[in-house]
Amino acid sequence: MDALCLLALAGAASLAAALPPNILLIFADDLGYGDLGAYGHPSSTTPNLDQLAAGGLRFTDFYVPVSLCTPSRAALLTGRLPVRVGLYPGVLEPGSRGGLPLKEVTLAEMLASRGYLTGMAGKWHLGVGPKGAFLPPNQGFHRFLGIPYSHDQGPCQNLVCFPPNTTCEGTCDQGLVPIPLMANLSVVAQPPWLPSLEARYVAFARELMKDAKRRGRPFFLYFASHHTHYPQFSNQAFGGRSSRGPFGDSLMELDAAVGALMTTVGDLGMLQDTLVIFTADNGPETLRMSRGGSSGLLRCGKGTTFEGGLRQPALFSWPGHITPGVTHELASTMDLLPTLAALTKTPLPNTTLDGFDLSPVLLGTGKSQRQSLFFYSPSPDMVRGVFAVRHGKYKAHFFTQGSIHSDTTADPACHATNILTAHEPPLLFDLSEDPGESYNLLERISSVSPKVLQALKQLELLKAQFDASVVFGPSQMNQGQDPSLQICCQPSCSPRPTCCHCPEYPH
Ligand code: MG
Repeated sequence: MDALCLLALAGAASLAAALPPNILLIFADDLGYGDLGAYGHPSSTTPNLDQLAAGGLRFTDFYVPVSLCTPSRAALLTGRLPVRVGLYPGVLEPGSRGGLPLKEVTLAEMLASRGYLTGMAGKWHLGVGPKGAFLPPNQGFHRFLGIPYSHDQGPCQNLVCFPPNTTCEGTCDQGLVPIPLMANLSVVAQPPWLPSLEARYVAFARELMKDAKRRGRPFFLYFASHHTHYPQFSNQAFGGRSSRGPFGDSLMELDAAVGALMTTVGDLGMLQDTLVIFTADNGPETLRMSRGGSSGLLRCGKGTTFEGGLRQPALFSWPGHITPGVTHELASTMDLLPTLAALTKTPLPNTTLDGFDLSPVLLGTGKSQRQSLFFYSPSPDMVRGVFAVRHGKYKAHFFTQGSIHSDTTADPACHATNILTAHEPPLLFDLSEDPGESYNLLERISSVSPKVLQALKQLELLKAQFDASVVFGPSQMNQGQDPSLQICCQPSCSPRPTCCHCPEYPH
């Protein structure tokens, strides 16, 4: 080898060394704290996620700020409270006029500015808008393959699940267009054949990773699986194969996708250059009973401000950089943006952020700066403010409200029949001793210890200060709906929405 060649090789090596890490962010849907083997589920089959947990840092106290799809996803991608972003109340619908405001800086936009090749596969649920104005290609993602919202936001009778040639079991939204599968801003199929979906997302992801490697660029891949949201589906390879029914099959397919993504990272020789993050948007939808996931030992699930709705499994793996283990540090999906900014040496967006840099926790150089977490109801208002506050090991509920999403559990406090209730004094729990929020420390206020009274005062002060400081952005959901905004594969057809039907054959 001549000197020039050696010089060129050395240059390429130093260039590679200077690249920030690839980021693979895997996001599950309606997955509970107790659903993974690594988090103690006795009959889930999640070997790849369990391996990720064993080789990475597993968080025990990792949260989303709101236990619902749209607000949770907005927080993940912006590092900001959904109320600031304007994504409240509830979730976006296929014909919603609103969406994630374009002035918000997403993770993808931040990392694209650092030279990343960015891509997203899966569920968006942050708005469609006129001509797809709010879709991922207009929010920092160079490439997108996915469905713009939840797959039950359309008529389920048009969807094929497993076994082959059967429609998905369940009740989904009627009077809407069938769900579209989109590649960037074009409709690929409406509806797509669901048993092929996860494999297509994996193929898309694989191509993106390979392409980034070919171009000498780091990648940011946001893999937002539809699993394990209801109605569950899976390919023939997984249908009926788990010991946990359709939910377990769906989870098994998600787990296999994680395995396939990790295999690709390994095959490309990028394991040490890739930070892999796994978490989920909100707790289980227990309304679906055994098809709805499990929050394990935590109370309630989706739609509530109890732990089962908000606390999520969270795994961070980066061989050679993150020491495997378990951490009890407080963390939130809103911490990802500042953490990734720090790890990639990218400037932070010039806006009010609600996250903290977790890199000292990940790299083992320090503790989390996060001391508190503030939780809003899915239908927040500035008068009531946050429903619950966690500070250290204590959590106070100033308001509680059940949710239809958390129906059917044994605890009536979770159910929709549990109407909005103000608590004065609040319900107070010690989550270290009582993660299931079973024993209110203020049950007998006359016999409360000074230490607990001090914690109560601190939580009340934190709520008052926080509520006074947060400015709600204009609600995107309150902009209403326009049925003509629903995506249609044959834009000029009639009668809508039924004519918007361009299904694909199984393949
Ligand atoms: Mg969800």
